[in-house]
Amino acid sequence: MEKKVCLECEETIRGRSDKKFCSDACRTSYHNRTNIDKPEVIKFIDYQLKRNRKILKKFYSQFSENKMEIPVKQFTHMGFAFDFYTHKEILQSNEFVFCYEYGYNKIDENKVMLIKQSPFALGVELFA
Ligand SMILES: [Zn+2]
Repeated sequence: MEKKVCLECEETIRGRSDKKFCSDACRTSYHNRTNIDKPEVIKFIDYQLKRNRKILKKFYSQFSENKMEIPVKQFTHMGFAFDFYTHKEILQSNEFVFCYEYGYNKIDENKVMLIKQSPFALGVELFA
């Protein structure tokens, strides 16, 4: 049987064969180290995208038939970064800009319409 060694300290691992670390301490220090190795620019962009998604999700949950449009000011106020997005799609002749499954369409300079689209479903939920 092949001997497995800890990814962090290279000690031989005892017990289950699917283990990657000899201890919790080694697992933690390995994950901390590999995250630190991520370039700053990737960490920064990941952070912006996730923050944008969180803001879209929040607004989307408040979105309703009565409140179809959200002022751009509210987005900027929350720290939304319009320059960061994951992809774009044309839906019903409108260009939607997405951060993961949440997208928006700028109706005009001041207003935004929201959409949620699961990448796993063909249909879209569109309040329009
Ligand atoms: Zn170890």
